[in-house]
Amino acid sequence: MELVESTAARLNMENGDVIRNSTLICAPLMADSVDRMVKDMYRAKTSGADVVELRLDSLKNFNPRRDIETLIKSCPLPTLFTYRPTWEGGQYDGDENSRLDALRFAMETGADYIDVELQVAPEFTKSLLGKKPAKCKIIVSNHNYQITPSVEDLGNLVVRIQAAGADIVKFATTAVDVTDVARVFQIIVHSQVPIIGLVMGERGLMSRILCPKFGAYLTFGTLDPGVISAPGQPTIDALLNLYNFRQIGPDTKVYGIIGKPVSHSKSPTLYNEAFKRAGINGVYLHLLVDDIAKFLQTYSSVDFAGFSVTIPHKEAAAKCCDEVDPVAKSIGAVNCIVREPTDGKLFGCNTDYVGAITAIEEALRGSDVTISTASSPLAGKLFVVIGAGGAGKALAFGAKEKGARVVIVNRTYDRAKELAATIGGDALSLAELDNFHPEDGMILANTTSIGMQPKVDETPISKQALRHYELVFDAVYTPKITRLLREAEESGARIVNGLEMFIGQAYEQFERFTGLPAPKELFKEIMSNY
Ligand code: NAP
Repeated sequence: MELVESTAARLNMENGDVIRNSTLICAPLMADSVDRMVKDMYRAKTSGADVVELRLDSLKNFNPRRDIETLIKSCPLPTLFTYRPTWEGGQYDGDENSRLDALRFAMETGADYIDVELQVAPEFTKSLLGKKPAKCKIIVSNHNYQITPSVEDLGNLVVRIQAAGADIVKFATTAVDVTDVARVFQIIVHSQVPIIGLVMGERGLMSRILCPKFGAYLTFGTLDPGVISAPGQPTIDALLNLYNFRQIGPDTKVYGIIGKPVSHSKSPTLYNEAFKRAGINGVYLHLLVDDIAKFLQTYSSVDFAGFSVTIPHKEAAAKCCDEVDPVAKSIGAVNCIVREPTDGKLFGCNTDYVGAITAIEEALRGSDVTISTASSPLAGKLFVVIGAGGAGKALAFGAKEKGARVVIVNRTYDRAKELAATIGGDALSLAELDNFHPEDGMILANTTSIGMQPKVDETPISKQALRHYELVFDAVYTPKITRLLREAEESGARIVNGLEMFIGQAYEQFERFTGLPAPKELFKEIMSNY
């Protein structure tokens, strides 16, 4: 996608932070009483919203003449009045004339904005007979709860909305795929009029966060998680404090984690805080992606600068890159993609391996200064990897590269054999693991999901067998200390948890994304809260 400088962009400072856009944050208020709505207005102001949308259709026992005046007088922020009928996805199913009368009354009483649906807007604006209060702006809106139309159809829709008397154009569509959002960005960035273009659903989340990059007038942020007026709305807190919304501008670089599912990922917390503290003009998103090749082809501008990749796309990611690091090629999995800023080419690598192996090496060295840092403490060790999936391959290749003798243990024995043959190691079935102790001082790495929440009582090996291991690593990081790690520690082994692998792989990715050293202490501090 080509990016054009947004005319809405401005450079300013707030509490020492750069403000790079003038896109407003609007809090939709869906209370069932006026009292509740007034309380929520103040919460919205405290949360950092710029405007409140008063959803009149959510009010029970609504009396327009009395309640609209109260709402306007009580409101500490500019007001947007919306009275959404059921035929446009709202809750009002009464008489149309009364509904439009209420909106006209809100305009006369001092509303800053009113929202009128495209279907009735031409008639509504005509009914004003040119007597629209100068202060009030009319948002003409259209909602598509099925799909996101083509760019051509969206362009025609915008023309119709403008012709219906809109001061501000608003359309909301539905994301069937994350690439649908690109068409909406294309419309927003070329718009000559103030415009709101949002894509509903989890796959459309990017539209709600990146809209200031493309110059949109407004986005919606909720007061509470899950209390939404349209699918996929983030909270104001997430917009401001997780995604650093005010710092997003036309030249902000976009990063993110590509996965399915992905909403649980802590990576955005880590990278956005690190970007902010290091003064990097970047934003890191959750990207719910079905087809990674299509995603990378669609968002091909150099502004979409780097991606972390998680389940189930690591193998497909390797095929999408123009160049793949030799280790990632051997592993057959890429978990980090960087776009070259000069020619837009994609470079893929695997930082899972570095993250885990470095954490294990550091734990083995511990405080023992007699261990040389020139060679790996893994050299010559017997390294047992449980699992032969993406993480198993990464650990097996990493250990082999450091000079360890590697044994692969897997539930599906054929996969263990296949991986062992590729790296030049031995294979065992999971059933043989307990009785496998050719020597003491071995290293054990669990790379299966055994022991992960909610099945925290499971473990891949008996406690008795653990006494033969010097160090035990677990890729699982929910919980941080698994049953395997707890029993390993009780058996006298050193332990390395999955969070250390997670942080380690993030160091490497941060450095690849930014060219700067990773803020290691900050990463540790952030992740210590999980
Ligand atoms: P994957 O490619 O799907 O591989 C899963 C592996 O686990 C396979 O070897 C599979 O055996 C085995 N497995 C799954 N369920 C099992 C069970 N109930 N009993 C025995 N074996 C079982 O997944 P992955 O990407 O390698 O991820 C594996 C784990 O590592 C996940 O828990 C993931 O969260 C974690 N991980 C952590 C980090 C980190 O930064 N800490 C990074 C990456 C992955 P079969 O071959 O028999 O199916």
